[in-house]
Amino acid sequence: MIVKKGIGVSPGVGIGPAFVLENEEFDVPERHVPPERSPAELARLKQAIVVAKKDVRSLQHETASRIGKETAAIFDFHAGLLSDTALIAKFTEQIMKAHVTAEFAVADVLRNYAREFLGMPEYLADRVKDVYDIEKRLLRNLIGQQQQTLHHLTSDRCILAHDLTPSQTAGADRTHVRGLAIDAGGRTSHTAILARTLGIPAVVGLNDVTAAAQSGMTVIIDGNRGVVVLDPDAKTIAQYQSYQQRQVAYIHSLDELKDLPATTRDGHDVVLLGNIEFPEETEVVLAKGGQGIGLYRTEFLYLGSNIVPSEEDQYRAYRHVLESCANRPVVIRTLDLGADKLTQSRARVPERNPFLGLRSIRLSLQDIPMFKTQLRAILRASVEGQASVMFPLVTSLLELRQAKAIVRDVAEDLEEEGLPHKADIPIGVMIETPAAALQCQQFAKEVDFFSIGSNDLAQYTLAVDRGNERVASLFTMAHPSIIRLLKQIIRAGQRYDVRVSLCGEMAGEPQYTMLLLGLGLRVFSCAPGAIPEIKKLIRSVTMAHADQVARRVLTFESETEIISYLRAETRKVLPEVISD
Ligand code: PEP
Ligand code: MG
Repeated sequence: MIVKKGIGVSPGVGIGPAFVLENEEFDVPERHVPPERSPAELARLKQAIVVAKKDVRSLQHETASRIGKETAAIFDFHAGLLSDTALIAKFTEQIMKAHVTAEFAVADVLRNYAREFLGMPEYLADRVKDVYDIEKRLLRNLIGQQQQTLHHLTSDRCILAHDLTPSQTAGADRTHVRGLAIDAGGRTSHTAILARTLGIPAVVGLNDVTAAAQSGMTVIIDGNRGVVVLDPDAKTIAQYQSYQQRQVAYIHSLDELKDLPATTRDGHDVVLLGNIEFPEETEVVLAKGGQGIGLYRTEFLYLGSNIVPSEEDQYRAYRHVLESCANRPVVIRTLDLGADKLTQSRARVPERNPFLGLRSIRLSLQDIPMFKTQLRAILRASVEGQASVMFPLVTSLLELRQAKAIVRDVAEDLEEEGLPHKADIPIGVMIETPAAALQCQQFAKEVDFFSIGSNDLAQYTLAVDRGNERVASLFTMAHPSIIRLLKQIIRAGQRYDVRVSLCGEMAGEPQYTMLLLGLGLRVFSCAPGAIPEIKKLIRSVTMAHADQVARRVLTFESETEIISYLRAETRKVLPEVISD
């Protein structure tokens, strides 16, 4: 039994057999399979070789016709390697006798083979690169097979991966995923957010859980305590099953709040909305007692499949959300897409600093046809309910004005085409960069609403990558600088009569609820699963107490003082929402 500690990012306990997803960009660890699975591993390898041979041949044909036969001849060596009986015998021996995974057999045998070329004359030493190339090709095929399996799981599994992109998570067969355990990542990485929305227990920032795990072994993933147990004994399984039952009972105990308002004990009304990534989650938000959708992350239309969604695909998705919400508010955020959300290999152009790169509104403004397609779908669907449109990662008024001008263009086009649409759709911006926060008074004059993206606001203010486990301890919403910015944004909203909501993960974390109420926030938008607990807390506090908490927090100088004070005050009101 091995116990690993990470960051619990999505509550609940998942128990089941592991599915370990390899990663082509990292060293493949030595992993064994039960002997009876070795023939299946060998079959996977043979399939990967067949695909690789086909790819090499077509690459060779293409090169021959584009550049010439001589250059294309380099692929003869690649094709030869893939048919080399001595090499194939070595792969087979590793898989059938040492019972390692196909991935490890490929990496181990080919790395040793490559070593034989080092120290040879230069023209032969160059072959090392070709061997590595073949290794990569085979690993990519094997990992591609694994990803296909992830999309079509036939039984329940706990997924363990070095890293999972939001698109891999979105593409996984959700009905069979019992939990996620990931080496990389932080609390507000997009995979963590997605797990929370989907209600899948998840632990990230585990560093090396995949190196110690093997597919098929039993795994416990405890998203509340941030613990992963590999190969647990019977006593430990029983202990976590009892945690699991308690968690389910607690969630059910909150069901009675569903139709009650989010009103404080002294009569102040708060609006509680849900964040979604997929249209079908709208029903979950409403079932949990949410009053509408405060953030629809539309980029997941792109991330869930390899096909670029058409205007009609998008229109159908937005209309589904609006119809399900039956005239409740729905905030549709335009694409927040960029190299940060795709693997670097799927990104259009790999970037050195994807979070500071061509992301979000910047990408939309550089790809006007794509942006217009989305805006057409939004404006057309918005006749079905109470939609508003919101732009992410805005850093300057010029960007906002440009985006608004494109909305106007699109409305004119739809008018000319005689297609029903809502030309005067409310327009908002996410305040999620220090630039927008510091200029929020100017923004307030040009928009209908603000939504604070506390995840990115913290990332860019504190200069901490939100998805990097190595700096996860530095990532905190309790930093005095963040709290000052929040106060400033909420004040500007009050002064210019612009509605302010907060849709970052902070909105769903009970320890911040009183502070946010005290700072004047009246609209919260969080993961569907967090809605009942936040509602319970709001119904348990008085605004007078919340005001006092916010005033006190503003006097503190460090995040440690702030967080311990907030936890203590929250515990006084509702002890069960603050875990030890
Ligand atoms: C945020 O940054 O807080 C936010 C809500 O947007 P996302 O998490 O999608 O970047
Ligand atoms: Mg953001």
